[in-house]
Amino acid sequence: MEFMRVSVLLVLSLLSPTPILSDSCFSSNGLSEIPKKLLTLAQKPELFDWMVGIRRKIHENPELGYEEFETSKMIRAELDKMGIAYKYPIAVTGVVGSIGTGKPPLVAIRADMDALAMQEMVEWEHKSKIPGKMHSCGHDAHVAMLLGAAKILKEHEKDLQGTIVLVFQPAEEGGCGAKKILDAGVLENVNAIFGLHVANHIPLAEVASRSGPFFAGSGFFEATISGKGGHAALPHHAVDPILAASNVVSSLQHIVSREVDPLDSQVVTVGKVQGGEAFNVIPDSVTIGGTFRAFSMESVLQLKQRIEEVIIGQATVQRCNATVNFFEDEKPLSPPLVNHEELHAYFQNVAGDMLGAHKVKDHPPIMGGEDFAYYQEAIPGFFFFLGMKDERLGYMDSPHSPYFRINEDALPYGAALHASLAVRYLIETQQEVALPKQEIRDEL
Ligand SMILES: [Zn+2]
Ligand SMILES: [Zn+2]
Repeated sequence: MEFMRVSVLLVLSLLSPTPILSDSCFSSNGLSEIPKKLLTLAQKPELFDWMVGIRRKIHENPELGYEEFETSKMIRAELDKMGIAYKYPIAVTGVVGSIGTGKPPLVAIRADMDALAMQEMVEWEHKSKIPGKMHSCGHDAHVAMLLGAAKILKEHEKDLQGTIVLVFQPAEEGGCGAKKILDAGVLENVNAIFGLHVANHIPLAEVASRSGPFFAGSGFFEATISGKGGHAALPHHAVDPILAASNVVSSLQHIVSREVDPLDSQVVTVGKVQGGEAFNVIPDSVTIGGTFRAFSMESVLQLKQRIEEVIIGQATVQRCNATVNFFEDEKPLSPPLVNHEELHAYFQNVAGDMLGAHKVKDHPPIMGGEDFAYYQEAIPGFFFFLGMKDERLGYMDSPHSPYFRINEDALPYGAALHASLAVRYLIETQQEVALPKQEIRDEL
């Protein structure tokens, strides 16, 4: 009896079309079914293994910001195989592809490509082959997920009701790659953009985010405090920059504690102090450096101004001179990441339909930075954490740790969420977008 039931089911399943996105599922009638169906597709062993392979290959060959030449080449080779058109180079190594009608609405999904300058300490078969470089922030997984989404979407291109823009971005780690992509003008008609980051602190098959400010805006500073060197036993013949630097460091901590609303989270950290070589010598100068963070650009600018005033003022009190560098050419002040309110509600619906509403969590704001914020200054955007935590894998170190590991079981979730957010966005907004024909950019 049991055997018969199984046989009947088997025959039925062979006769019925594969559980993919049949045309009806791309219509507004089947909206709530789309995310689950896309997850089923992303979890198919062939696609899963393919994404794992790509992720491991990128992991073995990590490249730093604006040097992602091989990563970019691999992405283009895969897009070529899929028959997906793209623009290259955008922002040095970036690749911007498109799938769909070539007409509005346009929705973008983004992955960052760069690794970090650190030595991998995880001993495994696919360990980084490049000494001193490691994918310790999971951007290798981000690329694999976006390619996975691209593959699924391309296979159902005829059903898409608009255009999906794939953004493979360089230099997220302090290089403002997102800003360079935007400056290249390739996202001009994009109506919305989505991005994700793997998260070791959130369980697998869960996502977390929030509406409004999510990641802090930030800046960096370095100051040289100059005095006059001399014998440590004769301080009255010297001008001591070490004492001045000590006062500067203490006073910098008074900015947040005494000048900022305690309910408005901000940080000033001095992470670098260099000066002096000997026990009995007062050095000529001391260099200090650090970072500052806040959840509005106004507060970031206010911190910057006060940091400069405090350093110069405190140095003067101790008869020293000071110069302050904010590296605005190499590392412009980065804006806070602010999630669009309506897209947050939209994300909750889509992710809830895929994972169950109880797996879509609220996440408190964090002081870390993420250059996805640049896109959101220009385009309504939404960014979320994708869970990876799994007790079977033991403790998972946080990003930027030399022991950072990816739970590859998260790859299908990332690919399916990218695809679902894009597909449903097109369906749900196509009625509302009515650009005049002459404004339609045929290249995207
Ligand atoms: Zn990172
Ligand atoms: Zn990252």
